[in-house]
Amino acid sequence: MPPFAKVRIQGLYALPKAQEPVTAELLESVAEFFRRHSGRVLAITGAGVSVASGIPDYRGPQGTYRVHRGYTPILHHELIAHHATRQRYWARSFFGIRPAFLASPNPTHRALASLESAGHISGLITQNVDGLHLRAGSRNVLELHGSLRHVRCLDCGHLENREDFQRTLEELNPVWAGVGREMLRSGEEPMRRPDGDIELPAALSYADFAYPQCPKCHTGHFMPTVVFFGGNVAPEVRLRSHEMVEENGAVIVCGSSLATFSAFRLVRHAREMGREVLIVNLGETRGDTEAKWKVEAPVEEIVPPVAAILGA
Ligand SMILES: [Zn+2]
Repeated sequence: MPPFAKVRIQGLYALPKAQEPVTAELLESVAEFFRRHSGRVLAITGAGVSVASGIPDYRGPQGTYRVHRGYTPILHHELIAHHATRQRYWARSFFGIRPAFLASPNPTHRALASLESAGHISGLITQNVDGLHLRAGSRNVLELHGSLRHVRCLDCGHLENREDFQRTLEELNPVWAGVGREMLRSGEEPMRRPDGDIELPAALSYADFAYPQCPKCHTGHFMPTVVFFGGNVAPEVRLRSHEMVEENGAVIVCGSSLATFSAFRLVRHAREMGREVLIVNLGETRGDTEAKWKVEAPVEEIVPPVAAILGA
């Protein structure tokens, strides 16, 4: 593996960079990283891992921030405070959740699950909310930013399955349900985002969208069990994430620009604790200066072949 070269941090991460050639020697040096730490490796994954499952990366070369410069994600405090923001969120999510329901784990998800079963990694912290690591068979998974699988009442904490919640939204919004069925029939592919959002068809207005109150307490509103931009990672999750870094001898970052502070902080913590950090990502990351090693390549070209070399 080439020695880590410092890069200039420009305030915008994941700028497209020149990919290094994926040689047998490069793959062998990543495999050696796993052997050296004999099972005490923690994986930290990001949106880059799910791109091959059809879930786009916010910040990668084809990500939403690059395609739509004016795009601003819904912020946590806006969702809490405003009825209109919740209408907009649930209306977009009504269409946008479908790709997340339909997406399947890809070879990188499966390779990471195999590396865990074979004892090469001890666990995995993901920033992704699509649940694909669990579906691929990874067991010791910490979802740093939560998951789209459930919604939770803001007042009483009542949890509901996101698929059941979708059926309630369909009953409350028959016109939208019709448009959704038509989209499925025509195979139309609207613009998707990693959190389940979508571009809204012109004929529909957010102001008409109805969303349910909690059936238990009849006062609260539901929120997806994910951490929004501007929201905080739950204290117990943050604590556990730090413990997972400390329990391991090394960290491999897979397909993440580490642009969110909660993920960057883990890599910084690993470096401060003297843990060896390897980043596999095509594009600059916020953690480049914290890492000992950097492989400038898409994860799907590195992780599955390395798992094969290790017999996982
Ligand atoms: Zn409630």
